[in-house]
Amino acid sequence: MKKTIFITILTLCVSCGNNNQKKTEAENQVVQDSEIIENQSQTTNGNETIVELGSDDKMAFDKKEIRVKAGQKITLNLRHTGKLPKTAMGHNFVLLKQGTDTYTFGMKAMQERDNQYIPKNTEEVIAHTDMIGGGEKTSVTFDAPPVGTYDFICSFPGHFNVMKGKFIVE
Ligand code: ZN
Repeated sequence: MKKTIFITILTLCVSCGNNNQKKTEAENQVVQDSEIIENQSQTTNGNETIVELGSDDKMAFDKKEIRVKAGQKITLNLRHTGKLPKTAMGHNFVLLKQGTDTYTFGMKAMQERDNQYIPKNTEEVIAHTDMIGGGEKTSVTFDAPPVGTYDFICSFPGHFNVMKGKFIVE
């Protein structure tokens, strides 16, 4: 009789231990999820919004769409997580006025190597960063344009066809 009770208690304890372990795993999962959210991209403090935009050696931005509120002062931080130099895989962020044709602008920008591929005396650019290479980062601060949808591109030669997205002011 005593032996039976002992075995029963032992069994209970083993299942206790398993439950605790499962719970710990579940808690870890939750922590990881919240870290991912915190790492995402955009923080607003009063009337200032900071936007994180990544780029890499695969000729890509990590966002196709950026949404901000009207009336905000925007600081856009551009990171290049690749290894290739600026001359081979340069990236910038160029925000274009509405009505600007990205192809026409991109072709014009291509000829402006001495000016970081930004056309001189252009009326079409709302804001742009410097051109950067792998491992570098840069930023630009500007007032959000009026409510509407705008195009952003990288103006390095040949990049504007794929490195582009929508900048939406709500
Ligand atoms: Zn680029």
